[in-house]
Amino acid sequence: MSRYLLWVLYLGLAFVFTACATTQTNAPLPSPRLILQITVDQLRGDLPTRHFDQFGDGGFRYLWEQGAVYTDAYHNHANNETIVGHTTLATGATPAAHGMIGNTWLDRETGETVYNIEDARFPLLTAGAGVDQETEIDPTQRAARSEGRSPSAILVSTFSDELAAYTGGQAKVFAVSVKDRGAVSMAGHAGKAFWFSKASGQFVTSSYYFDRYPDWVNEWNKQDRTSRYGDTQWQLLHPQNTYLFGDSDDRPWETDLAGFGRTFPHPWGSADSQYYTTLLTVSPAGDELTLDFAKALIENEKLGDDDVPDYLAISFSSTDYVGHLFGPSSLEAEDNILRLDRVLAELLAYVDEKIGLEHTLIVLSADHGGPDTPGYSKSLGIPGGYVDPESWDRESAIARLKREFNIDGELIEKYQHPYVYLSPQIASRSDAERESIERAVAEELARFPEVSLAISSRALEYGNLPDTELIRAVLRNFNAKRSGDVYVVFEPNWFINDFDGLVVASTHGSPWRYDSFVPVVFAGSDIRPQRIHRRIFTVDVARTLAAYLGIRPPSGATGTVLHEVLR
Ligand SMILES: [Zn+2]
Repeated sequence: MSRYLLWVLYLGLAFVFTACATTQTNAPLPSPRLILQITVDQLRGDLPTRHFDQFGDGGFRYLWEQGAVYTDAYHNHANNETIVGHTTLATGATPAAHGMIGNTWLDRETGETVYNIEDARFPLLTAGAGVDQETEIDPTQRAARSEGRSPSAILVSTFSDELAAYTGGQAKVFAVSVKDRGAVSMAGHAGKAFWFSKASGQFVTSSYYFDRYPDWVNEWNKQDRTSRYGDTQWQLLHPQNTYLFGDSDDRPWETDLAGFGRTFPHPWGSADSQYYTTLLTVSPAGDELTLDFAKALIENEKLGDDDVPDYLAISFSSTDYVGHLFGPSSLEAEDNILRLDRVLAELLAYVDEKIGLEHTLIVLSADHGGPDTPGYSKSLGIPGGYVDPESWDRESAIARLKREFNIDGELIEKYQHPYVYLSPQIASRSDAERESIERAVAEELARFPEVSLAISSRALEYGNLPDTELIRAVLRNFNAKRSGDVYVVFEPNWFINDFDGLVVASTHGSPWRYDSFVPVVFAGSDIRPQRIHRRIFTVDVARTLAAYLGIRPPSGATGTVLHEVLR
């Protein structure tokens, strides 16, 4: 080969390499105008698949057929509760870092139970819109001592915080949910959150976010959309014989709450009755109201109307309430998911019309899954049951431990799911003594038949436990300032369902797969349809959103980038 030809070849190759490098380094990042983060409360990963053939167009079908669908996604922390999962999705961090270790925890300084986002410094903007202790069915909200709410107890930044910081505060950041914690967690520290007050029947916020309501919020609330369900009923969307659970509407383990009944149709009652707004939230009406408010927000706050990406988180709560009252394998849950599908379709059609789905990056996931009811499981020969710690012979176990460790006063301060907190006087003992007492308490707990595992926090801190997946999940849930002294895991399909007299059909909060398995789907923008079967975790979601926009990962994020989402 002549020197000339070699030279031409060299130049040619150099050109090709330069061209490739240029394409890769200078390609513009996709620039969606809106990041829409949808969280469905208690949407176990298999539920959209099970009911897929029953869905219409534009909702789940659009997301699952046009999106990047992760079929093996999990929360990798142990306590699969609402604030824990939401904050993990928002921050890409584990509860150990973000601090939301449970819906409630015990404040060791005051000895009082803390509700995750309560903050007395920031009262609600609507007087009397706080928790109605008489009618509130959420035992964790009832635990709150003040009506104020803020994200102050979230210890790390959210993706939405990072977006606000990256854009010099120009990104508009909002979150909406029926549940206060479903909105506050996602809005982060820099965004604005609105949630539904069952006491006032309105969407409200706290003085952390606003001094006064934006006009459009007053306007929305004045329209009194809540009362339109008065004296009507939740009816089935389709003929009953078309449902998977069409033959099993009336099951004895279902909850009959305040006249709502165990069978269709479920009456909401008159708009001025005591439980009216509560019954709206335990039915598809709660999601419909959330959608209605979210549409008004998109319109009035002009989300996605310029090149600076905005962020809207919507958390739909009805699936969770319906799951608790009736179980995920019930006619009510089945109709609810079909109606949620219609809500999603209407939301996506609205976003398409206002902003364009090609300008919107959508991510949908769930804060946790949920177990089937023990009654349903048992009807199929699958074991499970309700745990009743009152039936345990705790007194003799406690007496034995007090003798052994020479304890005069109380041994146990409180069981606040999922932790046992030992009495404050134990804290004054030496570290070695505390570790021995914790281990002994854990061993006693593990003797009860429904307890799968009881893990001492000191043993976790000292790395003094076998390295199993379960223990790693408990460790990711461990925050030294908030976690209790012994973490209790019940056997699979066993859980407590009695909360101070309110008995429900099903409760999540375990590390088991039915509680940790959730959908993760990215769609819209430039996402191409694909099914991805490798195992991923929910901490990857916020990390991936940050990578997609080329911005800083949230401060505590431990997830990895889901490379299938990035082109
Ligand atoms: Zn939840």
